[in-house]
Amino acid sequence: MTHANIGVVGLAVMGSNLARNLASREGNTVAIFNRTYEKTQGVLDAHPEAGFIPAATYEEFAASLSKPRTAIIMVKAGAGTDAVIDELVKVFEPGDIIVDGGNAFFPDTIRREKAVRSTGINFVGAGISGGEEGALTGPSIMPGGSDESWVTLGPILRSIAAIAEGEPCVTHVGHDGAGHFVKMVHNGIEYADMQLIAEAYDLIRRGTGKSPAEIAEIFAEWNRGELESYLIEITAEVLRQVDASTGKPLVDVILDQAGAKGTGAWTVQTALSLGVPVSGIAEATFARSLSSHPEQRAVAGSLPGPAEEFVVADEAAFIEDVRLALYASKIVAYSQGFDEIRAGAAEYGWNIDLGAISKIWRGGCIIRAQFLNRIADAYAETPDLPVLMTAPYFAEAFTRAQAAWRRVVVAAAQAGIPSPAFSSSLSYYDGIRADRLPAALVQGQRDFFGAHTYKRIDKPGTFHTQWSGDR
Ligand code: NAP
Repeated sequence: MTHANIGVVGLAVMGSNLARNLASREGNTVAIFNRTYEKTQGVLDAHPEAGFIPAATYEEFAASLSKPRTAIIMVKAGAGTDAVIDELVKVFEPGDIIVDGGNAFFPDTIRREKAVRSTGINFVGAGISGGEEGALTGPSIMPGGSDESWVTLGPILRSIAAIAEGEPCVTHVGHDGAGHFVKMVHNGIEYADMQLIAEAYDLIRRGTGKSPAEIAEIFAEWNRGELESYLIEITAEVLRQVDASTGKPLVDVILDQAGAKGTGAWTVQTALSLGVPVSGIAEATFARSLSSHPEQRAVAGSLPGPAEEFVVADEAAFIEDVRLALYASKIVAYSQGFDEIRAGAAEYGWNIDLGAISKIWRGGCIIRAQFLNRIADAYAETPDLPVLMTAPYFAEAFTRAQAAWRRVVVAAAQAGIPSPAFSSSLSYYDGIRADRLPAALVQGQRDFFGAHTYKRIDKPGTFHTQWSGDR
């Protein structure tokens, strides 16, 4: 009997595409299993070229795999993942490898890794980005787990990952939950990047009156410069699209309520508990929430806005200002995201190579961009850089962009156009570079009402003042 060197459990869109990707690579034979067998049969029938080995039960699935058995789970995150792990643990042996390629929250991965490790089986939480297309043609993969499992898994994952500048977009991120942590932050950055692009579009449209198709050309032009990225590229495509039934730009027909599957919220919740200010990601996540409350928006629509009409005197100059504001805010979003990874690594004891993370995001994933090479350069030069955006290349970009960024945020505020990601990024920039912050006053207030004490700038120790208002 031919044995498979890799198996996939879960054959919905992601799992079936990943299985086909694996099967298309030299040297791989792929076993497939799905809870509902009809799906397995469907994949088998649709893709005879893949040479899949189907299994109807977990026992058959285990028997079809060569040792160490290696299986990638691509099922509904949460209870579905736990259910599959419980079954695989029963039929696998010590030394075998279970990979969860779903979108798990990293504390769940830490818990699962610990539980599975106690049986002698390896457990790897692997973030996989790129959606269904990436799963088929080459995703960006962020695996955690043990060094031992990486020996077997590394060559398999390298064979299916996207290639960017000759390098596969996969690296062993760190132990237990490190891979899913990094994938979570990737998604958080994705939220910020998308929101920033949306704000840029909104400002240009409302400031110049240009049509979505005309703005698509602006984005296409931007995509030939320093903003070059998958998200800018697809934004131009989305803005160009005409609705077949009405003849209107499709973007004008789409309901303006943004959905979310929760990874942005996880990024922000985690950042809050780590004490890392990811304000751009948080505002992007909240902007989706705000959009999704039509009942509140309907009532709030009667609140007053600016009296004057928004008129842009020099359209070309304004559009260039928006481009620079977008670029500067994007640097802030990535800097904040990498700060969260740095803090997470310190908290959970992961040895994460930040430069390697930026490199595996250059292909296959949603935030793929030229710009990530500059991040890799920054960490290559200074591996323990405390704030990414202070690297010389980014500092130079701020020198070029900051005046335009301020003009855009002022214009948005005066025109009554919401720009939460642009403006919070600028506030972060000004906060982090400030010589002195009003946090001193906050400390005074805390000491006043709660005797929380404060430190002084001129001598060591902890101090409490007998405030005149003390009761
Ligand atoms: P999905 O809709 O999230 O899940 C459907 C699959 O899960 C089916 O194969 C289903 O089996 C299986 N399943 C659900 N509960 C189960 C249980 N208790 N026991 C066994 N199997 C169970 O599928 P998907 O969209 O392909 O995504 C798979 C994973 O990849 C998810 O974790 C998702 O978050 C992640 N992901 C998705 C994308 C994307 O673009 N879609 C991108 C990145 C990551 P049945 O056929 O028997 O119901």
